[in-house]
Amino acid sequence: MNQKADAIIIGAGVIGSATAFELAKRDYKTLNIDKLPASGYGSTSNSLAIVRAHYSTWDGVALAYEGFFYWDDWANYLGVEDERGLAKYMKTGTVLFKTKGDDHIKRSLKYYQEIGVAYEEWDLETLKQRMPIYAHDYYGGTTRPDEDEHFWDKTGDLIEGAIYTPGSGYISDPQLAAHNLQMAAEAHGGKFLFNSEIVEIRQAEGRVLGVTLASGEQIDAPVVVNIAGPHSAIINRMAAVDQDMKIKTRALRQEAHQVPSPPGFNFEKNGCHTADSDNAVSFRPELGNTMMIGSEDPECDARVWVDNPDDFNRNVSQAQWEAQVYRVARRIPSLEIPSRPKGVVDLYDVSDDWIPIYDKSCLKGFYMAIGSSGNQFKSAPVAGHCMAALIDLCEKGQDHDKDPVQVQCVYTKLTLNMGFYSRHREINDNSSFSVNG
Ligand SMILES: Cc1cc2nc3c(=O)[nH]c(=O)nc-3n(C[C@H](O)[C@H](O)[C@H](O)COP(=O)(O)OP(=O)(O)OC[C@H]3O[C@@H](n4cnc5c(N)ncnc54)[C@H](O)[C@@H]3O)c2cc1C
Repeated sequence: MNQKADAIIIGAGVIGSATAFELAKRDYKTLNIDKLPASGYGSTSNSLAIVRAHYSTWDGVALAYEGFFYWDDWANYLGVEDERGLAKYMKTGTVLFKTKGDDHIKRSLKYYQEIGVAYEEWDLETLKQRMPIYAHDYYGGTTRPDEDEHFWDKTGDLIEGAIYTPGSGYISDPQLAAHNLQMAAEAHGGKFLFNSEIVEIRQAEGRVLGVTLASGEQIDAPVVVNIAGPHSAIINRMAAVDQDMKIKTRALRQEAHQVPSPPGFNFEKNGCHTADSDNAVSFRPELGNTMMIGSEDPECDARVWVDNPDDFNRNVSQAQWEAQVYRVARRIPSLEIPSRPKGVVDLYDVSDDWIPIYDKSCLKGFYMAIGSSGNQFKSAPVAGHCMAALIDLCEKGQDHDKDPVQVQCVYTKLTLNMGFYSRHREINDNSSFSVNG
């Protein structure tokens, strides 16, 4: 007889593990199946794990802001010990530079006010006192040092100041955070199966029946959830639900780079997460008195879409290293640039409008938490809470497509309309169409 579960979750990344924990708390017998050897070994493992609230939409800000409180309350939220320890919330705050005519910042600020995100407005004098290593030059947009001979030229103007959110930061170890969630799910009866690849989504008469593994083993469940990260489109094709979706997902190659702190300034101890839209970079402190640099996906950087997420170039490229590190050097003139590139390469699971899809599908019992677009680590526990509510209500008969599930946030008490994340939505023109969501 086939093994059985109430809900099979495809993937044990940070969102898959969070969804397991939340469903297990609702008495679902969950089974996460992952082809890798442990939880959080997929794209979660290379996440920069930055926790910040600036997004282009009310819903994006509200979801991310709710996440702050989960990370703050991590030990209590999990309610279990993990012999490997707990992931730490490094609350460095975020410095978000204010530049002329930057709509993204204006919109974020409006939503901060509406939602109640604590922030401070810094003029250039305050910025200088708090972060003396930052130059205030305004470059008027991002280019590539290998294509623009005027890359280092300044416009002569200055940025206007910064918005500082004290409640944001990053998570010390993203893979450990997924493991913590696995422990919490297991404490509520959740099970995890590793080194097991799903190759078939079985179904009959419009209802999901379960999955088949590469070994040929079949496991049955009335609920199957696609949380396969950059493999999400493959799983949706396997389930034949992709044709019903207006918004699709694709894997995008992404590099993040690591550099030593500038001499004389310990960025690991005294640095903040910093978002510099003028240079299209976002950087944060990292262990070993270093900094990690991520991209804000400027148009001048070619996007490398990946058809097969199991086969892509995992080496940092010299050209992209120089592009991102030189952009930071425009902001931190004292930065010393090592000759040998260092960093990580992994995949984002990007939706057409860079906003996730948290939804059901046209196949009864088959759900998805996908399209995390390089920006949902921070919201993973909130996404888990929302997915568990959505799945539970749909299984009890709510027609989410006609009557979208509304979820009350645990900490902020805000109400999230899950219809915002529908697979049937029109492309959201308010999106930044970048990792900023
Ligand atoms: C370089 C980088 C930097 C990032 N920085 C940030 C950041 O600063 N802040 C932020 O909020 N977010 C960030 N993100 C995004 C964030 O990390 C992701 O949104 C999040 O980790 C996705 O988690 P997940 O559980 O959905 O997917 P994953 O962690 O990718 O997990 C999916 C799992 O599914 C499994 N799987 C796939 N197919 C199958 C199959 N057929 N059978 C069995 N198992 C399968 C995989 O093995 C994998 O373990 C970043 C991402 C990257 C790549």
